[in-house]
Amino acid sequence: MILSELPAEFQAAKPVIDTITAAGFEAYFVGGCVRDTILGKPLHDVDIATSAFPAEVKSLFKRTVDTGIEHGTVMILDHGNGYETTTFRTESGYQDFRRPDQVTFVRSLKEDLQRRDFTINALAMTATGEVIDLFDGLADLDAGILRAVGVAEERFHEDALRMMRAVRFASQLDFSIESQTEQAVADNATLLTKIAVERTRVEWEKLLMGQHPERGLQSLLTTGLYQYMPKMADQRAMLDQLIALPAWHLPTIESTWTLLAWLMDATDEAAIRKLLKTWKTSNELINHVLAAIEALSALQERGQLTAYENFSAGLAALTTANQVATILGFGQDQAVLEQSYEALPIHDKHELAINGGDLVQQKLVTPGPAMGTILAACLRAVVDGQVNNQTDALLDFARMAADTKNH
Ligand code: ATP
Ligand code: MG
Repeated sequence: MILSELPAEFQAAKPVIDTITAAGFEAYFVGGCVRDTILGKPLHDVDIATSAFPAEVKSLFKRTVDTGIEHGTVMILDHGNGYETTTFRTESGYQDFRRPDQVTFVRSLKEDLQRRDFTINALAMTATGEVIDLFDGLADLDAGILRAVGVAEERFHEDALRMMRAVRFASQLDFSIESQTEQAVADNATLLTKIAVERTRVEWEKLLMGQHPERGLQSLLTTGLYQYMPKMADQRAMLDQLIALPAWHLPTIESTWTLLAWLMDATDEAAIRKLLKTWKTSNELINHVLAAIEALSALQERGQLTAYENFSAGLAALTTANQVATILGFGQDQAVLEQSYEALPIHDKHELAINGGDLVQQKLVTPGPAMGTILAACLRAVVDGQVNNQTDALLDFARMAADTKNH
């Protein structure tokens, strides 16, 4: 197969391949970028594999960065772009079920393609668009099949993450997992516990954000792989529920975790924190999900949010909540939601026209907890539209609040 019209990403990277081949080495585009081009999907990264050893690659270009030199990866900097070039290699060892004990640089493309996970990811392409297909990846691509390169059982023993990659690609590409490959996932599912949570999480997020999540979810159920994902052992019913949702699409990682927390009944702060800490997400994501779940509860209970709920959530978490509410069948018109958020008198507590210093200066309070309580009451009154956000009006209000507190 020769691809005649290559996407712009390849055109830009072509001089890199040309330089390597002019020096007498082989160099190809490999992996996901070849697969996605044939499928007509947008590319996110262009990987190059070469027979040149890292030192040889470095000698051919002025500017390079050792991004993963021990694995053979060198980044070539060219006209403001960076291209990852990896020396053909074989891997061996894999005593821990997740990474090779040893990588060996080789000169043969075939050996390099052989270590790759699925036939559709084991395609190479020359700079002129000729596809090199040594493992029948093109036929599988055409038929929509994920098939391990070689003996599936062995491949999952080498690296158990590949099982998560299988279900993730099933979702992203709307592919089915070939029966022996799927059986090998079922037989080796427990090995997933050997894999770092962060790596499993990335695949789980990609699965859920894929175009056909129900497909990946169904494979998780069929193979039982879900039982070895963090906090998922007792979540069969939740997975069934997800599969049964009418056509849904999760646009962001934030909406993904908000939907999961909601369906897993992690709706109070402690439970949400526990769930997301187990999955080792960032604190930023945890805070976002906490805010989004509060907004989501309000949307479910009342179909709308109070001014103060809008303010507390912030526009980003509100948007997430509404994306998830839409999937769950109680979404609101996003434009209306945004209008009511924009209409708030202030959007950040720092916009309040008085601060603690003003209260002390006016001898309304002494610094301490009472000050916080009064400022919070001021904030709420402004957001609710009871008091104008002006210093004098707020000092009057604070005086009243302080008096009520003192009597
Ligand atoms: P995407 O970038 O869309 O997530 P991809 O297939 O490009 O998908 P990468 O993780 O970028 O995935 O890896 C690039 C290539 O490296 C793959 O196409 C595959 O050939 C190989 N590869 C990646 N991870 C593994 C793995 N765990 N085992 C074997 N080969 C792998
Ligand atoms: Mg990739």
